Amino acid sequence: MKMRLLTEGWIRLRRFLCPHCGNEVHFGNSQCVRCSALLGYLPSRDQLLMIPADQNPFNGSGAYLKTCANRDLIGCNWLSESSDEELCLSCRHTTKISDISDEINLVRWARLERAKRRLFYSIIKFRLPLENGPDGSSGLLRFNLLSDKIRPDGKTERIMTGHYNGRITINIAEADDAIREKNRTEMGEPYRTLIGHFRHEVGHYYWDKLISEQNVAEEFRAVFGDERRDYSKSLKTYYKNGPAANWQNSYVSAYASAHPWEDFAETWAHYFHMVGGLETAYAYRLDPQPLMANEPRLIQLEDPYHVLDVQQLIDHWIPLTVAMNAMNRSIGNHDYYPFVLAEVTLGKLKYIHDLIVANEVPFAA
Ligand SMILES: [Zn+2]
Ligand SMILES: [Zn+2]
Ligand SMILES: [Zn+2]
Repeated sequence: MKMRLLTEGWIRLRRFLCPHCGNEVHFGNSQCVRCSALLGYLPSRDQLLMIPADQNPFNGSGAYLKTCANRDLIGCNWLSESSDEELCLSCRHTTKISDISDEINLVRWARLERAKRRLFYSIIKFRLPLENGPDGSSGLLRFNLLSDKIRPDGKTERIMTGHYNGRITINIAEADDAIREKNRTEMGEPYRTLIGHFRHEVGHYYWDKLISEQNVAEEFRAVFGDERRDYSKSLKTYYKNGPAANWQNSYVSAYASAHPWEDFAETWAHYFHMVGGLETAYAYRLDPQPLMANEPRLIQLEDPYHVLDVQQLIDHWIPLTVAMNAMNRSIGNHDYYPFVLAEVTLGKLKYIHDLIVANEVPFAA
C-alpha cells in the first residue's frame, strides 16, 4: 500500500519531497541525501524536480529545462526555463562579480547567490513585476557583487552596498560571517544577514518602480514622510548624531529613521521577513496559540503571500516571533526576530502590503 502523507493535499509550501524516493528534501538541495537523485528547483512551479541522469537539457513537466550554468561552480540548484538562457532566473540578474579565480571570492559569491535565490523566490510568490533579464539598459534590476580593491597607490577603494537605478551593489565581504558580525556590532544593529541586505536593497528598486514611476509619491509621503529632503545630508546626520529620538515608536529599526527611502526599504524587508517566516511556519505547522483560554485561537494562514488584510499577517506574526524568540533563547542564540513593531510601523507594513497587492502581475519564466 502506498503510504499517504499526513500533509497530502493541503500542504505544499516550503517543504519538498524527493520525486524519486519520497524522502524530505529542502529548497537548496541539488541532490537527495537518501537516493542520490539529482534535483533542480523550478521557480515558476515552486517544485523540486528530478534531473534525469545524463540528460541536460531535459523535458520536465512538459517544458524545456536545463540546469543553471552556475550549478557546478557555486551549487545553484535552480533550473533555467528558457531555451536561450544558460543561467537561472536568479543568477542571470547578477551582472558583475569579483574575481572568482580567488577561492575566497568564490565561496562568498556562492553564499550571496544562495540568499539571492530566496529573494527571487519571494518576488515570484508576490508576483511582483520583474523584467526577464538585464541587458545593460538603465532601470533593469541587476546585481553587482563586488569586493574592496587595493589601488596601485596602496589605498583601499571601498565598495558601498546600495542601490542606484536598478543596480544593486553588495560588498561581498558581507558573506564572511566574522566580517558581517563585526559590522553588525559596530553599527549597533540587532540583525544583519545576507538575505536582509537583498530584501532591503530590492526595496529601493521597487520604490522606483512602484511609487516614483507610477506617480504615487504623495500617498507614500503621507505614511513615510517627504523623501525629497536631502538624502546624503540625512545619512550624514544619521551617522554623526545617531537615530531619531524615540525611533522605536515610529520605525522598525534605528536606520529606518535616517531618511524616508531607508524607512521604506527597511519596512519592505520586514514585510518579506514576515511573509517568508509565516510561510515556513505554516509548512512546519508552527502554531503558537494564546496562553489564555478566553483569547481566540488562530487558524493558520495557508498562503501568507496572498492574504487580503495585512492584519491577518500581523496577528499571526507577532505570536510566532514571541515563540521563536523563546526558542532561540532556550538554546542561547540571538533572538530570531529582535524587533518591536509599533503601531506606526504596522501602518507602514500595511502600506507595503497594499502596494504589493496592487502591483501583482502573472509570473512569466
Ligand atoms: Zn530521493
Ligand atoms: Zn542559478
Ligand atoms: Zn538602503
